[in-house]
Amino acid sequence: MSQKIVMPEGGKRLYGIIGHPLGHTMSPALHNWAFGELGIAGEYRAFPTPPEELSEFMAQVRELPLSGLSVTIPHKLAVGNFLDGVSERVSKVGATNTLYWQGKRLLGENTDVYGFMAPLTQLATRPKSALVLGAGGAARAVVAGLLEIGVPEIVISNRNAHKAEGLAAEFAVSVQDWDERSGFETELIINSTPLGMLGERVGQNPLPEGLCLSPHQTLYDLVYNPVRTKFLQQGEAQGCRTIDGLTMFVHQAVEQFRLWTGQTFDLGQARKLIAALLA
Ligand code: NAP
Repeated sequence: MSQKIVMPEGGKRLYGIIGHPLGHTMSPALHNWAFGELGIAGEYRAFPTPPEELSEFMAQVRELPLSGLSVTIPHKLAVGNFLDGVSERVSKVGATNTLYWQGKRLLGENTDVYGFMAPLTQLATRPKSALVLGAGGAARAVVAGLLEIGVPEIVISNRNAHKAEGLAAEFAVSVQDWDERSGFETELIINSTPLGMLGERVGQNPLPEGLCLSPHQTLYDLVYNPVRTKFLQQGEAQGCRTIDGLTMFVHQAVEQFRLWTGQTFDLGQARKLIAALLA
């Protein structure tokens, strides 16, 4: 029996996140804080939804209706079957992380691509080369984002070489063997693996220890818990520019919020809120 969603009282609009398992997601704290800050009558809830309940859940999204949804693993592909249309970015990445309404049409967007690109578009010069570590779901958004901002040389390196080759072929970029990943000289290195994440992988580093980096390089970690990972610390110690995963997280969230409400929240305050919650 799937969950029966009860609408909030007082005519508030309802938003939320679906995934399974949902674990401890920061999205409800962030979006509910933003509704409060901007005086918007909205409520954002976590809806843990196993795959076999997705169809019934999506029927309720339309009937109630829910005003917007974040979508995470394992629904990012399957949710596309319940929509009236998807953006060009979703078509390229093959995954949806946001549902929103345009009139009576329920549409899919991928704000991870936007969130990933946002800090890179603020750099004085665009990187000419990028090494992407990992070839999972997040790496797809990363490669799509790098192509969108016009990085001419993109190389993917992954523990499972077949996955790297498949992703590289799809996006017409190159591959580097995982054991030789530090041999590719690049302006930008992106960690899109979970190495370094809180839990059993905390303290792990996707780069070999003692690797010599140059201050002209930028290290970008998608992991945001902890915010200062071993990977970023290694870059900082050698004078590299670093971009943390929290920056991407708040940017992808503000783009969701804009699609849902037409408004944006303060990114600095949002960052402080999440950093405090993570601490
Ligand atoms: P995923 O689909 O499971 O992919 C994980 C990738 O990491 C795979 O390529 C996998 O390689 C590689 N990997 C896993 N363990 C490894 C290990 N011990 N050594 C080497 N490579 C390893 O996960 P995802 O959805 O892409 O997410 C990746 C990370 O990005 C997560 O930490 C997630 O939290 C983060 N993320 C952050 C944001 C943000 O807003 N900051 C957004 C999305 C994702 P194999 O193919 O060899 O298994």
